[in-house]
Amino acid sequence: MIEKIKCLIIGSGPAGYTAAIYASRADMKPVIYEGLQPGGQLTITTEVENFPGFPHGVQGPELMNLFKKQAERLGTDIRYGLATSVDFSQRPFKVVIDNNHEIEAQTVIIATGASAKWLGIPSEKRLNGVGVSACAVCDGFFYRGKDVAIVGAGDSAAEEASYLANICNKVYMLVRKDKMRASKAMIHRVSETKNIEILYNTETDEILGENAVDGVRVRNNITNELRTLAIDGFFVAIGHNPNTEIFKNYIDLDEQGYIKTIPGSTKTNIEGVFACGDVQDKNYRQAITAAGSGCMAALDAERFLALSH
Ligand code: NDP
Repeated sequence: MIEKIKCLIIGSGPAGYTAAIYASRADMKPVIYEGLQPGGQLTITTEVENFPGFPHGVQGPELMNLFKKQAERLGTDIRYGLATSVDFSQRPFKVVIDNNHEIEAQTVIIATGASAKWLGIPSEKRLNGVGVSACAVCDGFFYRGKDVAIVGAGDSAAEEASYLANICNKVYMLVRKDKMRASKAMIHRVSETKNIEILYNTETDEILGENAVDGVRVRNNITNELRTLAIDGFFVAIGHNPNTEIFKNYIDLDEQGYIKTIPGSTKTNIEGVFACGDVQDKNYRQAITAAGSGCMAALDAERFLALSH
């Protein structure tokens, strides 16, 4: 049977839960589907120091648990499940959950976030889960006292390198340019950490090992010199791709696949469908900006519902 709802929220990071909090308080009876990674990317981070209201910092998973509890207390219907297809060609919008549950929603708030990028080399795929990982916080524990490498030079890579440095014997940071993109504070932190060695102008040629990682062959892109580092873990932290695959036939995306919203709003090209958080933001990508845009999406949806009746 087709379920009819007023407001469907897809995705459960800071954007989705903030939209849920506002939509619940506006009596829109929101239903939120948590998606593949309930709580979103903050559930795979450690300490969050820059979310206002937590003067001593807060652990990412704990913060998301608090978001969830707040949405729950205000009456949000929180469900485990993944939106697998949509039909936005007419209202009410059709969304299928887990390939079998059909929903008709008067408004849809897309808050599906973004997922980790991979290098795309065969050995990375072959050794995934047996030494190759895109989440230092999830998997760092397995490399206690060992040597590891992490590729990337943004804030994520720097944060994950610091995290690994606390657990591992040695961390090689593989930076493809002659400088890092991370913030000054993070560059300072990794440069000052004794067991992090930053290798600039360095690219991954091949991850080595039969059934588990035992090394990485890297190439200096100035001299073309190859060098093998003995490591047990290889971490990838090179940014993210927006989770927009199921929407692309209906929603306008930019050249990198991020949802285009009308500036100053969360409106997409389809009236009644709104987007918030990382799925439409490749610039700020912070928990607090995602939460802010989640609030905007709920307010935009509320106004839309009021005007469409
Ligand atoms: P970024 O896009 O900022 O950085 C990606 C990094 O990966 C770049 O240094 C890039 O190198 C490198 N890279 C990309 N592709 C490859 C490749 N194929 N081989 C080698 N290196 C590659 O992503 P982040 O996830 O680090 O950060 C995203 C956003 O989130 C940023 O705005 C960041 O500030 C923010 N952030 C904030 C945090 C906080 O405030 N606590 C924590 C983490 C992230 P190059 O520089 O050469 O292009």
